Amino acid sequence: MNKYEVLKHYFGYTTFRGGQEQLIDAALDGRDVLGIMPTGGGKSLCYQIPALMFSGITVVVSPLISLMKDQVMALKNVNVAAAYINSSLTFEQLLKVYDNLRLGIYKILYIAPERLESGGFAELARQLPISMIAVDEAHCISQWGNDFRPSYLKIVDFINSLSARPVVTAFTATATEQVREDIEAKLRLRSPLRVITGFDRPNLKFEVRQPRKRSAEILELVDKRRDKSGIIYCMTRSNVEKICTLLEENGFSATRYHAGLDDAERQRNQEDFVYDRKTVMVATNAFGMGIDKSNVSFVIHYNMPMSLEAYYQEAGRAGRDGEPAECILLYSPSDIHTAKTLIEYSEESDAITEEEREKLRRRDYERLNRMIEYCKTTKCLRSNILDYFGQEHKDFCDNCGNCGTVFKQKDITVEAQKIFSCVRRVYSRLGYHVGIAAIVRVLHGSEEKRIVTWGLHELSTYGIMSDVPRTYISDIINYLVDLGYAVKDTTYGALVLTDRADAVLFGGERVVMEYREVEPKVSKNKKSKEKQKQQQQQQVTDSDLYERLRKLRFEIANAQNIPAYIVFSNATLAEMASKKPTAMWEFMEISGVGRTKAELYGDRFIEAIRNYINA
Ligand code: ADP
Ligand code: MG
Ligand code: ZN
Repeated sequence: MNKYEVLKHYFGYTTFRGGQEQLIDAALDGRDVLGIMPTGGGKSLCYQIPALMFSGITVVVSPLISLMKDQVMALKNVNVAAAYINSSLTFEQLLKVYDNLRLGIYKILYIAPERLESGGFAELARQLPISMIAVDEAHCISQWGNDFRPSYLKIVDFINSLSARPVVTAFTATATEQVREDIEAKLRLRSPLRVITGFDRPNLKFEVRQPRKRSAEILELVDKRRDKSGIIYCMTRSNVEKICTLLEENGFSATRYHAGLDDAERQRNQEDFVYDRKTVMVATNAFGMGIDKSNVSFVIHYNMPMSLEAYYQEAGRAGRDGEPAECILLYSPSDIHTAKTLIEYSEESDAITEEEREKLRRRDYERLNRMIEYCKTTKCLRSNILDYFGQEHKDFCDNCGNCGTVFKQKDITVEAQKIFSCVRRVYSRLGYHVGIAAIVRVLHGSEEKRIVTWGLHELSTYGIMSDVPRTYISDIINYLVDLGYAVKDTTYGALVLTDRADAVLFGGERVVMEYREVEPKVSKNKKSKEKQKQQQQQQVTDSDLYERLRKLRFEIANAQNIPAYIVFSNATLAEMASKKPTAMWEFMEISGVGRTKAELYGDRFIEAIRNYINA
């Protein structure tokens, strides 16, 4: 079989994605390669296809048990002889794998880096015909990355201990220059072919929202995405608990993941999510590395993350199957306060000097500021991200919250003046600064006891904004903080004016607020009513069939005890629902249907489609 035949036969695809073919060709030619592609870019095929074509065995170094398990399960399901070696195996299971290795049964062996040098594996490996070593998640070898794993440094010793040097290939989604150089140096790659593909993920729709009440927003968002698999990231464990409970109380199928749960429960919850027994995962950032679940349709951030790298990594867990997916960040100005507190009080090891600590802190603030910029920009969000990764792009992507929104401007100079003079008056009355909530009460004319005991009801600014809702006043104050006219003190959250406020009060400076118009702008190429209606009907019928196919997939997955996305991806189901193949040859033309899967599942899916058409 040539590489195209392998691609169709085992994986069911007819075309390669960007970068795959070059990397595969080079490896087949015996050249080392380094592939840098975004999450979901299709790195696995870049070593799996050569592995299937080489005469010997391919050893894949992978950092996590769950990753290996997932991949081996998927390979076995299409009749590829594969296995893994990691700490989850019993001694008997390990011996069995060793026996099979000696017999030359496997094409692909996944192994944890710690295992390369232990349990006699290295001795055994010297007798095996190893054609290729593939290092997955290769950034783990670099101290510059976020997931440094010291055991990755042993890989090169292992390679050197082999009787003949196999082709060495490495893959990662981390694009920074430092990490790339580190990988090449530490793995001693020999003039590798480097392929760095674009970092854009066109199927992801990015959006930033600033809701009044985030918990209500979450309920609404999840409700509109019923039956879709999604992740909700929260900054703290207590938020995870709160949101998960909220969802469960409202009848949603949710589970949770954070470092405070014991191993067994974390494992169970993760599997419930991966196997689609629970549709929503609420988690801290402890969840995700090693999750290859391809049918995640949305990732919602309940809090703003600490950096854009972290955000893109977490949000990028949506839509690995290439289907449209959403990444929604719920932003609140209070997140900035929380993040700053986290930076100020972060526990670095005692081993570093005060100077180094200061350097780290400055770096964290820079990252945070870049993240805040993303939350506030009114320009294309995708452009904002790609700028960060130094990639060229169009000005508008037409697939993000900002590209679909018209921003309106409103002069809020008078409001700002009222607010600023109120802050000044309160300060001169009390001799200290108070928080936003108290300022809002004074401006709104609250009769609360505290306000009266403090004598704030006697101020001339008392009640001068009683004609607007309190939430509107606090929105404006937060906006003024964003613009730098005032700051929130990091310890107590007290509101303090900066010098810039004087320019508005006394210097004639005007303040303009940009806000989102509620109705999204109408698409330029308006479709005719008739066409829209037709399309809607088409979609309704398709999604009925899609639902049936999804149920069938779920039944099959349960019976086989594998995750549903290993049976077929969402993209494959969607194509079936629209093309409606009723003969085996048609069925085999669907992307994602290879030989084995057609044999395994073809009849049942075709039957379901026929029944649907004839009903
Ligand atoms: P990565 O490791 O780069 O994050 P994966 O290797 O897990 O990505 O692939 C992500 C998804 O893309 C998988 O569902 C895989 O089957 C699919 N995929 C990979 N290559 C292709 C291709 N050439 N055509 C269609 N789908 C592909
Ligand atoms: Mg991968
Ligand atoms: Zn855009």
